[in-house]
Amino acid sequence: MNILFMGPPGAGKGTQAERIVEEFGIPHISTGDAFRLAMKQETPLGLKAKEYVDQGLLVPDEITNGIVKERLALDDCNKGFLLDGFPRTLQQAEALDVMLSELNRGIDRVVNLKVDRGLLLARLTGRRICKACGSTYHVMFNAPKQEGVCDKCGGELYQRSDDTEEKVGTRLDEYISKTAPLLDYYSGKGLLCEVDGEKEIDTVTSEIVSCLKGSL
Ligand code: ADP
Ligand code: ADP
Ligand code: ZN
Repeated sequence: MNILFMGPPGAGKGTQAERIVEEFGIPHISTGDAFRLAMKQETPLGLKAKEYVDQGLLVPDEITNGIVKERLALDDCNKGFLLDGFPRTLQQAEALDVMLSELNRGIDRVVNLKVDRGLLLARLTGRRICKACGSTYHVMFNAPKQEGVCDKCGGELYQRSDDTEEKVGTRLDEYISKTAPLLDYYSGKGLLCEVDGEKEIDTVTSEIVSCLKGSL
């Protein structure tokens, strides 16, 4: 199963992706995670990406497409994949179509998590992530058993530097102008599943699973 997850920042893509990849046994490919790792390691890619990520802007298409192309060519993607946070521009969507056709593959489903803008600020400013395993929590909506500590691995939780009120505004504007138009692109191809991302985490997971397993 080749799946794309779309939705504004804070919609729950990462949270749901963690669960869906477990259910389907496919790799989770997050361009945001790839950029954060490269930034932490201060690789040339990381230093370039940082100029944009720190401002809440999208990283240029050529850089982003290159990462995805390399990742999709790895063997573990033969059984399928979940792309989380890519594509985010029409140019990326077109580049993805070319990459997949070269690999003789296609997209099976595009899941759009719908969440109102008003809720996204609270979701993002309360988000906490495990330094060790990358699991996502929320201080109020999905709190760990012990404050600041990951339930799964005991790792320390941190707040992303772009999850501030100021950066969130820019990120949502980027989403509206550059990414939201992609929904028409995929609905035109008959691939889009709309899921209400404002429901409880478990409910959203079941709705995604039925959308992936059922007919559109
Ligand atoms: P969120 O979880 O809020 O949706 P991500 O972790 O997916 O955010 O992405 C964080 C940042 O990484 C984005 O604000 C952007 O700077 C960069 N980024 C991630 N994916 C892409 C992409 N497909 N195209 C361009 N930039 C991206
Ligand atoms: P995205 O990857 O789309 O940016 P995340 O999965 O990181 O979004 O979720 C953003 C924040 O909202 C996290 O703190 C997460 O714990 C929380 N969250 C995710 N899904 C839900 C939900 N259905 N209800 C309440 N909070 C949620
Ligand atoms: Zn952890």
